[in-house]
Amino acid sequence: MDASDVETVAVLGAGNMGHGIAEVAALAGYEVRMRDINDEFVQDGYDQIEWSLGKLAEKDQLSEGDAQAALDRVTPLVDMAETLEGADLVIEAVPEKMDIKKDVYDDVVKHAAADAVFASNTSSLSITELSEVTDRPERFCGMHFFNPPVRMQLVEVISGEHTDDGTLELVEDVAEEMGKTPVRVRKDSPGFIVNRVLVPLMNEAAWIVHGGDATVAEVDSTAKFDVGLPMGSFELADQVGIDVGYHVLEYMHDVLGDAYEPCPLLAEKVQNDELGKKTGEGFYDYEDGGVDIPNDAGREDVTHRLLAVMANEVAGLIGNDVADADAIDRAVMLGAGFPDGPAKMADAAGLDTLVETLDDLHEETGAARYEAADYLRELAEAGEGFHGGNGDGESDPTEFDTIRLERDGNVGRIVLDRPHRMNTVSAEMLEDLSVAIDLLDADEEVRSVLVTGEGERAFSAGADVQSMAAGGADPIGAVELSRLGQSTFGKFELADVPVVAGIDGYCLGGGMEFATCADMRVASERSELGQPEHNLGLLPGWGGTQRLSNIVGEGRAKEIIFTADRYEAGELAEYGFINEVVPNERLEERALELARDLAAGPPIAQRYTKRAMLRGRHDTDAGLEIEAQAFGHLMGTDDLMEGVTAFMSDEEPEFEGK
Ligand code: NAD
Repeated sequence: MDASDVETVAVLGAGNMGHGIAEVAALAGYEVRMRDINDEFVQDGYDQIEWSLGKLAEKDQLSEGDAQAALDRVTPLVDMAETLEGADLVIEAVPEKMDIKKDVYDDVVKHAAADAVFASNTSSLSITELSEVTDRPERFCGMHFFNPPVRMQLVEVISGEHTDDGTLELVEDVAEEMGKTPVRVRKDSPGFIVNRVLVPLMNEAAWIVHGGDATVAEVDSTAKFDVGLPMGSFELADQVGIDVGYHVLEYMHDVLGDAYEPCPLLAEKVQNDELGKKTGEGFYDYEDGGVDIPNDAGREDVTHRLLAVMANEVAGLIGNDVADADAIDRAVMLGAGFPDGPAKMADAAGLDTLVETLDDLHEETGAARYEAADYLRELAEAGEGFHGGNGDGESDPTEFDTIRLERDGNVGRIVLDRPHRMNTVSAEMLEDLSVAIDLLDADEEVRSVLVTGEGERAFSAGADVQSMAAGGADPIGAVELSRLGQSTFGKFELADVPVVAGIDGYCLGGGMEFATCADMRVASERSELGQPEHNLGLLPGWGGTQRLSNIVGEGRAKEIIFTADRYEAGELAEYGFINEVVPNERLEERALELARDLAAGPPIAQRYTKRAMLRGRHDTDAGLEIEAQAFGHLMGTDDLMEGVTAFMSDEEPEFEGK
């Protein structure tokens, strides 16, 4: 059996995760049987699916008809035999207790079809041990969704000791079918990838405070504003539940040894039932102000400690062949919202510095958690990083981390590729865009450029405030950042070839300023656009105060910027900002069609037209002069001959730019 044979999916457990997984499966078109232990629980899960589908429809991410069809595909059940009858894939999401899960599997094997594949959504239990209570350990693997499954892109697909490759491939294909990004975890190792990185990080944060080396505020300020993580370590622990992290840590401690000894500070919190947000108090007091992290209390020594521990975990995972650096980076960005992968962040800090940090701490404390993994030490000694030479190796100039550069005939395509962060613009993305447009502009074969965003949620939801903050919130740095954005986006305006922006989803702030620099904009019906900077006490700093009015006029530009409202694509089409609004599913096709049409146009005439219009914006005489000169130049081109001949013979011209 392979993924194409999977038609019916059984989901065991209709709780937090179970109902979310059932919804995702139904949205992907599978028949779903969702089971819980009584009518009330399973109905509860079903009601939540109905609510969630309703929300998606309300936000135009789904039509009413598709929402209803997805709901109709879900059957809530209590009877196990009925649930499993004809199910091709069984996804188990019952409580995280080995005994409960084993009892469930005892029951499952009695009723499941002989060739059905089993996948457990466990966050931490051993896949191998679970598989061994079934009659098909080779067709058993982990399928670890993240919460909430409807929104989170990552699925860790975990191989147990007995799992065969076909099973992993099938489950990965099903995850893709569900619109998720599967990342393979080659070995059944505690915490898999994401928790293996996150949980020791939380533990280290606690050890730092426990040892009196820094305060909670200093550690969280460092994590959030210097390292650039989405949350402070303590903020995250409170959010997830200190007990949840603590139990995973205890499990790691049991299986992986002393390096994972939980910090007493965490144990104390668990004992006192101060578990974080859910109990009203954890590291922060939620009845009295909640999380309050200063943005300027970060410390370099804390940065090094957090990164060193993280690098050590990455090295442990790679060294034990659980996953490679790329898979780890992808998983942690998608599953934990890191702006960059941990391997990449460690490389940027320099593995030699991080090994030194670990060695110093080890000497000072003797603690096993600071013993550098062999693989980390080897790389550091060889002067290498997780991703090869420390930046000085040969690299492909067309390979970028934040965007994809592609070619479709004569159309150069740039895809903003940070879907885990709604394609927000980081400083690195600006640099990548700058290089990419230079490459495209220098390539004579490229006759137009199309820019789109990866995924269905956003063209670009704005500046990546977090990764920007990580670069330091100093005013002088911010001036440079503003100039960098202005000039990078400006390169698209200045490019010789026409540029089309294909907008699907959010196009906000910096994302809208970028789209403003395209020559034409096509948007899907569901797109929402706006310049929300005034809401934050900022202003559009990547050209928005100047360039927007060239397209919509000063009055409308002021309205958009001062109200900071979100606009629907149709409304901005009336303002002249969007050239064409198309049904959601036609966006890609139509934007590419337009880019291809423009690519078939006369390159020299297009180039001069862009220049004349740009120069003429604030200086009509200069623009007119360019227009006159260009008009003269064009008289001598082959393109003119081609155009005129084609016109006379009623054929399509083939312009060559000569
Ligand atoms: P939950 O308590 O919300 O839901 C579990 C559901 O399973 C409950 O509705 C319960 O009644 C039901 N159940 C109990 N015994 C059952 C049985 N014998 N058959 C069918 N249903 C049964 O828990 P959850 O948060 O949804 O977690 C489920 C699994 O997903 C756990 O393994 C957990 O580790 C994993 N997980 C949780 C998260 C998260 O953030 N909550 C994230 C990833 C993975």
